[in-house]
Amino acid sequence: MEQAVPSSPLEQVRTRIVSAARIAGRKPDEITLVAISKTKPVAAIEELIAQGQRVFGENRVQEAQAKWPEIRAAHPDIVLHLVGQLQSNKAEEALELFDCIHSLDRPSLVTALGKAQDKLGKRVPCFVQVNIGAEDQKGGCAVADLPALLAQANQAGIDVIGLMCVPPADIESAPFFALLDKLADENGLALLSMGMSDDLETAVQLGATHVRVGSALFGHR
Ligand SMILES: *Cc1c(COP(=O)(O)O)cnc(C)c1O
Repeated sequence: MEQAVPSSPLEQVRTRIVSAARIAGRKPDEITLVAISKTKPVAAIEELIAQGQRVFGENRVQEAQAKWPEIRAAHPDIVLHLVGQLQSNKAEEALELFDCIHSLDRPSLVTALGKAQDKLGKRVPCFVQVNIGAEDQKGGCAVADLPALLAQANQAGIDVIGLMCVPPADIESAPFFALLDKLADENGLALLSMGMSDDLETAVQLGATHVRVGSALFGHR
């Protein structure tokens, strides 16, 4: 009999994604695992890189600036996503550092990012974050404001590739993921950034193309 080898957190998360995709009749390679390394030290990130992970996400520009130039220099094939709220005055720094932004969520930021793109001559693909549970304390564009924000982003030359959400804590995520999928459909957007450590299976079954997983990979923060 084969000895059971304890699998790493990365293998476990990959297995969860593959199983959920199979159940949903989807191809596992349609789903990108974004490893959220916020608050985690470079050594922990290097461990995942050694196991083959290449796509990472951070939620703060300043923290990413401190950690990632060094790691990127050693691993030029890293892809770095910004998943946290972005202040308009940090748009230029974000554009310099990240390959994808998941938190485009308001007119002032669209304006700032459009200007930063023109100035730097660089564009990155963006997700528009939707405040899917209409929570006061959360970032994200209100569902009703989405068409106007998408039109503004298009005007500003921003490459919007999909929608992103962080559903309310402690209740079932499925209805929120289903709503995000519907909104993406209605607006002709192909990609969905949704699902975290606790609900990635649900997200994959409801069409996620990017799952953002932190604690299941790195341990609790
Ligand atoms: C921290 C964070 C995640 C990862 O959350 P986990 O529950 O640790 O997997 C995903 N998305 C965003 C926007 C985050 O800030």
